[in-house]
Amino acid sequence: MSARTPVRVAVIGAGLAGAAFALRLAQRASDAAQITLIERSAWPRAKVCGCCLNEGAVQCLEQLGFGEWCRDAGVVVDRVLLCSATGRATIAKRPGLAILRSDLDEMLVSEAVSLGVRFEPRTSAAIVEDYDWGGNRGGMKAGARGARDGDRSPRSLRLRTQAGDRVIDADVVVAADGLGGASCGADPAFAERVDADGRFGVGCVIDAAAVEPARMPGDGEIAMYVAPHAYVGLVRLRDGRVNLAAAVDVAWARDLGGPAAAVGQTLRIAGGPVISPEALQLRGTSRLTRSRRRVASRGVLLLGDSAGYVEPFTGEGMAWALAGAMQLAELVGSAIGAGERGKLWRDELGIAWQNWHQSHIRSRQRSCALIKPLLRSPLVTRASVWSLAHVPLVSPTVSRLARHLERPYFEANETIAHHAGARSPDNSRSNDDARLVTPATRVTT
Ligand SMILES: Cc1cc2nc3c(=O)[nH]c(=O)nc-3n(C[C@H](O)[C@H](O)[C@H](O)COP(=O)(O)OP(=O)(O)OC[C@H]3O[C@@H](n4cnc5c(N)ncnc54)[C@H](O)[C@@H]3O)c2cc1C
Repeated sequence: MSARTPVRVAVIGAGLAGAAFALRLAQRASDAAQITLIERSAWPRAKVCGCCLNEGAVQCLEQLGFGEWCRDAGVVVDRVLLCSATGRATIAKRPGLAILRSDLDEMLVSEAVSLGVRFEPRTSAAIVEDYDWGGNRGGMKAGARGARDGDRSPRSLRLRTQAGDRVIDADVVVAADGLGGASCGADPAFAERVDADGRFGVGCVIDAAAVEPARMPGDGEIAMYVAPHAYVGLVRLRDGRVNLAAAVDVAWARDLGGPAAAVGQTLRIAGGPVISPEALQLRGTSRLTRSRRRVASRGVLLLGDSAGYVEPFTGEGMAWALAGAMQLAELVGSAIGAGERGKLWRDELGIAWQNWHQSHIRSRQRSCALIKPLLRSPLVTRASVWSLAHVPLVSPTVSRLARHLERPYFEANETIAHHAGARSPDNSRSNDDARLVTPATRVTT
């Protein structure tokens, strides 16, 4: 590959997944890649999140060079206090860290920028869908295209800012635009399945003075309050404030008059603290549980929540986003080593990512999804909390199960060939091949 023509990698969304990917790729291949990180919001931006990084997520941040920063900015959390109408129980967990999301995301982006990543906040990106995979692009005005005639870039993005629209080309696009990300919405390859009775998320950061002192979450504790139609998580941050995140039934919140009422009611039912209503300045998300059959197609790779998500009770989302970002940067980095501008995309890259995502992320999401029906049954919730509190073997067993979810995400030296190698794809075939990936063809590492 010529050093004069770095390949163009466009990353949509500067959340944890997009920022970590851009940073990792810049660390790995900064001279060979021209990386653009596009973010819709003004920066930094608030994010609905429980803010609890599990051990796997912390390990990824350490590999990115943020170990010390995380230890300074975070609070160690090593147990979950589970509360329901009938009681409370404490479950030990592997130590993780609670860190304010906006601080974490901002830190990753600034480090990426310092390594040469071009960051474009307040810019909304959409993949131009009129691309003809035969090698011609349609739909664009001839004048807009003239200067780039003959350029074989696989994908074009339309960037929308207050100043107007413009189009850029990219050899590979990583869509990390979060829950229900719509940047590739027009591409049927990425059709999304949304759980019709899925909950939505809400969250905010609260001054300690607004939380009933006697029921303030303890140091090192994630307090989870579970009611039949919602659950609320509270954790103390380094600056003494309390982060609140909740998953709430849509219809229930509507009947109660809104998310703040639903959060207050959940805390009341499950014996949580009283929080002054003015402090509940909640932000919301769309429905949480969703999946896509494919996470790679024709020059576009989906990453983080955009590739699929399940309700956040077990607090895995950031680990999925970070581990995925690390792995995808390795895959794209090795493709850059072997490719060149205009010819970077190969079906093997898409298949490798589809395989890895299926075997390392989707499989964990399926395990987490098993908890969903339990949380919706008042009887089961009560029985679980009671047995956790009173039956000696239950709590250690649950801790062991939680540790299973935190098993390592990837081994060193995984390569594209390794992940694509479940089948050896034929370059002449369409990359619709990726849809053939099934559990039977999973690569286990
Ligand atoms: C209530 C709740 C509690 C949670 N608690 C935890 C927890 O305790 N621990 C944990 O590990 N995980 C938790 N999660 C999950 C975690 O927040 C997510 O998995 C994680 O944020 C995913 O990161 P991401 O980068 O994929 O998405 P995001 O962080 O959402 O980033 C996506 C970014 O893309 C931008 N964007 C969207 N569209 C466009 C566009 N068209 N153009 C440009 N930019 C765009 C958005 O503005 C956003 O900044 C929780 C989630 C919820 C909802």
